Amino acid sequence: MVAFRFQIEGREKHIPGQYYELCIKDQSGVPHIRSYSIASSPDDESIEFGVQMLPGGKVSSHLSRMKIGEQIEVRGPLGTHFLWQPSKQLVLVAGGSGVVPFISILGHELTRNADHRAIHLFASAKTENTIPYLQEIREIEKQRSSFHFHPTLTRNTSSDWKGNIGRIDESFLKTHIDPTVPTKVYLCGNSSFVESLSQKLASLLPQAIIRKEYFN
Ligand SMILES: Cc1cc2nc3c(=O)[nH]c(=O)nc-3n(C[C@H](O)[C@H](O)[C@H](O)COP(=O)(O)OP(=O)(O)OC[C@H]3O[C@@H](n4cnc5c(N)ncnc54)[C@H](O)[C@@H]3O)c2cc1C
Repeated sequence: MVAFRFQIEGREKHIPGQYYELCIKDQSGVPHIRSYSIASSPDDESIEFGVQMLPGGKVSSHLSRMKIGEQIEVRGPLGTHFLWQPSKQLVLVAGGSGVVPFISILGHELTRNADHRAIHLFASAKTENTIPYLQEIREIEKQRSSFHFHPTLTRNTSSDWKGNIGRIDESFLKTHIDPTVPTKVYLCGNSSFVESLSQKLASLLPQAIIRKEYFN
């Protein structure tokens, strides 16, 4: 994943969880529009996107070739359903690059004096090196005692890894989530990940409190 920062003129303050549309035009003038969640906090001066580089991907490849100072057409902030809301317990569940909107949520939470609220971030990635924003997340762990990070690797290759291995399952979720306190759940990633986790959470929490963002 690569982080990109943009200065956006006349920018409207976003709510963590929102995204922008980025538009590029190819050599024939055909527009290609893709959505990217905002990783930065609302009070940051610039907007950050965390973009997974896809070989042959039109917009991600274009971004990787951009030079500092170059401009791009954007529209946003957009999104009305995946918005951060305070809760006694926040459960954030990310598959791969689905971590990005949670970085904005966590950054925002840190600016609020709300250590009495528990936040659980479950993140699934192939290997430790592919967990997006790992360093930033580890820093937040140090700063906020009520933040709990539960990474899990599906293709662990290192014997040094102390965390979980395999897919996130019901018993793993049950170990960490308290179903008796007011909770908001956010699921983000590709559609198969989001749907499968939504089913796994169903035995633990009401579906109505689960918000989903599909990256496909
Ligand atoms: C609300 C929302 C938020 C999102 N936030 C993020 C985010 O924070 N970070 C992020 O990384 N992504 C995010 N996405 C996904 C993002 O919008 C793009 O879908 C993604 O970056 C791929 O775009 P691309 O133009 O680079 O690739 P595309 O050009 O769309 O190609 C996607 C893949 O398909 C392959 N492909 C393309 N054409 C063909 C073909 N003809 N035959 C076979 N294979 C082909 C490409 O090689 C590539 O691997 C989000 C999506 C949504 C809906």
